[in-house]
Amino acid sequence: MKLNIGCISGDGIGPEIVREAKKVLDAIAVKYGHEISYTEILLGGASIDVHGVPLTQEAIQAAKESDAVLMGSIGGDANTSPWYQLPPDRRPEAGLLAIRKELGLFANLRPAVLYEELADACPLKKETSEAGFDLLIMRELTGGLYFGERRTTVENGLRTAVDTLVYNENEIRRIAVKAFDIARKRRGKVTSVDKANVLDSSRLWRAVVNEVAKDYPDVELSHMLVDNCAMQLVKDPAQFDVILTENMFGDILSDEASMVTGSIGMLASASLNDTKFGLYEPSHGSAPDIAGKDIANPIATILSAAMMLRYSFDLDKEADDIERAVKQVLKEGFRTADIMPEGGKASGENKCSCSEMGSRIAERI
Ligand code: NAD
Repeated sequence: MKLNIGCISGDGIGPEIVREAKKVLDAIAVKYGHEISYTEILLGGASIDVHGVPLTQEAIQAAKESDAVLMGSIGGDANTSPWYQLPPDRRPEAGLLAIRKELGLFANLRPAVLYEELADACPLKKETSEAGFDLLIMRELTGGLYFGERRTTVENGLRTAVDTLVYNENEIRRIAVKAFDIARKRRGKVTSVDKANVLDSSRLWRAVVNEVAKDYPDVELSHMLVDNCAMQLVKDPAQFDVILTENMFGDILSDEASMVTGSIGMLASASLNDTKFGLYEPSHGSAPDIAGKDIANPIATILSAAMMLRYSFDLDKEADDIERAVKQVLKEGFRTADIMPEGGKASGENKCSCSEMGSRIAERI
């Protein structure tokens, strides 16, 4: 297969972690006989340095012409980087928001996986962490409270603020379809999360999700109220496969889910539009504090590349292979600094650099 991948290395540790993900993708290409071409795309601070703006028309065009985009992360230290002397619409993050909008990315996928080998980093009870979990939060990204009309008024000296939460049935249907499609590639379970006991938008959400479910008799659907879901994520995360939810609930729940895994350098993410196209990036930022030192953890980016193979190219076997290689290297005891337990050497773990971690995973493909 020919894979035409746009590549945004970005800022901070971005170029280091993307380099390692490419190593692993190249190993996949050799093993399975695929042909990968990478198109480098400038975004964020890297684009400001060259073009004076965080996103150019050429960058948008290059992303649109790719089958999928793999990204490191963008941004710098807000206290010291000259990028943050610029007006807000010229700063690195503005480029990221703009490219997401241009590409029509409405579905955000955040897997939260607890690896057996990293169970000690999990802040949950021992019996919960030992059982492990592997869930995915599918968050609607372009509607709801964050995009509704808002205003603040003062009447008779009383300040009043209003935010509106709007969803139409088409916006709900398209994300529900994505969630059911993805559940079919996983364990076949969708938990739709809402606040249908209070909100009209949630009652419509639930009704439309039920309609979509009729086309997926092989996928098990249940509904859960968001407050209960927040509790269940810390009580029994293993019960979940795909959690489908609206923008604000997803924002909060996905951060909660990532915290319970205990290791930010391991968390992949994807944002999809209504074609097979997706933007794949680690959940973490550009970590300017450790940039250029070859100590960052490249695994979140490598796992984002695996998601890209699975969701944009339907290469499930290849994606499984990457995930298996990551597990194997962890099992062998190799750890970047962020996931190295205190006194780890004594228990058999070996500290390795970003590039060594990437090479070891690529070698096990
Ligand atoms: P961050 O995620 O970059 O860093 C938080 C902490 O986690 C730091 O101590 C960092 O060293 C560590 N860390 C993060 N990723 C790591 C990895 N792969 N390996 C080892 N350690 C890792 O968050 P921040 O410091 O709040 O933000 C830094 C910059 O990143 C800011 O400019 C912010 O705007 C940007 N950012 C970008 C994205 C994105 O590109 N999507 C997302 C979040 C933050």
